[in-house]
Amino acid sequence: MKSANIFGHSETLMDLQARMRDFVDREAIPREHPDLVHDVEKLDQIAHLLREKAKAAGLYAPQLPTTYGGLGLSWRDRAVILEEAGRSFLGPLAINCAPPDQPNMINLIQHGTNDQKKRYLESSIRGDIRSCFAMTEPAPGAGSDPSMLKTRARRKQGGWVIDGRKWFISGAVGAAFAIVLAQTDEGATMFIVDAENPGYHVLRNIPSIDGYQIGGHGEIDFVNCEVNDDAVLGEIGKGFTYAQVRLEPARISHCMRFIGRASRAMSIARDYVNTRYSFGSRLSELQQVQAMVADSHIDLHACRLMTWHAAAKMDAGESIKHESAMTKVFVSEAVCRVADRAAQIMGALGMSEDTPVSLILRELRPFRIYDGASELHRATLARRILKGGLRA
Ligand SMILES: Cc1cc2nc3c(=O)[nH]c(=O)nc-3n(C[C@H](O)[C@H](O)[C@H](O)COP(=O)(O)OP(=O)(O)OC[C@H]3O[C@@H](n4cnc5c(N)ncnc54)[C@H](O)[C@@H]3O)c2cc1C
Repeated sequence: MKSANIFGHSETLMDLQARMRDFVDREAIPREHPDLVHDVEKLDQIAHLLREKAKAAGLYAPQLPTTYGGLGLSWRDRAVILEEAGRSFLGPLAINCAPPDQPNMINLIQHGTNDQKKRYLESSIRGDIRSCFAMTEPAPGAGSDPSMLKTRARRKQGGWVIDGRKWFISGAVGAAFAIVLAQTDEGATMFIVDAENPGYHVLRNIPSIDGYQIGGHGEIDFVNCEVNDDAVLGEIGKGFTYAQVRLEPARISHCMRFIGRASRAMSIARDYVNTRYSFGSRLSELQQVQAMVADSHIDLHACRLMTWHAAAKMDAGESIKHESAMTKVFVSEAVCRVADRAAQIMGALGMSEDTPVSLILRELRPFRIYDGASELHRATLARRILKGGLRA
């Protein structure tokens, strides 16, 4: 049944959505394989292949302005397209709309000099190189609390010397450059550091619960890492402000992709319960199974509404300070509930790697930690509500 188009999605968008769905079904999903999990090299090869196909299909870089070779979609339109791409682990990579490159490209567009754009942005957009964003540090450094930043940049003649340790840096293995947050006398500052810099060392790829992150999650050492003045991204001392501006839309983009992934898990589970029998009835006829299917549908509907609302506010140029936190908490937890129910009603098969469901569950779980743990957002929201700055 066709529902009323109360969100004003255009025919052009619906056509793009259909083409993205077809592309993901034909090109991305068939290339998924558990062997790719944690295999940085193979993931890179597949990303390159898929990007060429996405370019040829006119689906590449929906998030970037047309002046930068993208499709120039609004946030609201992006929500629909990213959900479609996000059904596959490989979809967002194929269209070069996956973190950390996606928010790094935005940082470069917003704050990069012409030289930085020429050197780092153009080849990132083409998908020739990858990058990473290095903020988190092992204890006693910055984690949930960025003010604990220990990585330090000292001035030297014509440049800076960076020292410190970062970890859980997504995409670090094989990245051509890192955007690094370091403390200076003038405040936290973003620096662009080439991977070839002799003071930059990727120590290891940290094995983690999720497996389809291109470039893994690296631990990086900065030892006497010398960079020139032109390595500063934007203004000195504005690092925390830029990180915040980066994170708010980045969280919403994650929500868009992960709604697609959780919805796919549930559609795989639906096929299972519609055909599997237990004690003389189909699983889909059991009320406890039906409740899980219905609750998942409700969760996903609420996820979409919150995400689309935040997207509409961004399109209107309004602040999403509160929406970014609320949506991130709700969606990160709801998509985990959905994937967990999908795995549960599939029994042993749901625990296996014979279907993508268990891998989807693993992929979604860390979203409750990165880009601000749920507890942190709840604490911030509660403070604002209790002070009267937000409606109770
Ligand atoms: C898969 C993955 C990818 C990541 N990618 C990147 C990346 O690319 N770049 C990068 O810089 N970082 C990245 N991170 C790191 C991520 O940003 C941090 O894990 C996150 O900021 C939390 O910091 P922490 O791990 O040090 O946890 P901690 O700060 O040690 O906190 C641990 C837990 O304590 C609780 N807690 C913390 N503060 C509060 C509070 N105020 N109120 C109540 N409870 C609280 C929360 O439950 C939290 O999960 C990634 C992490 C993961 C898991």
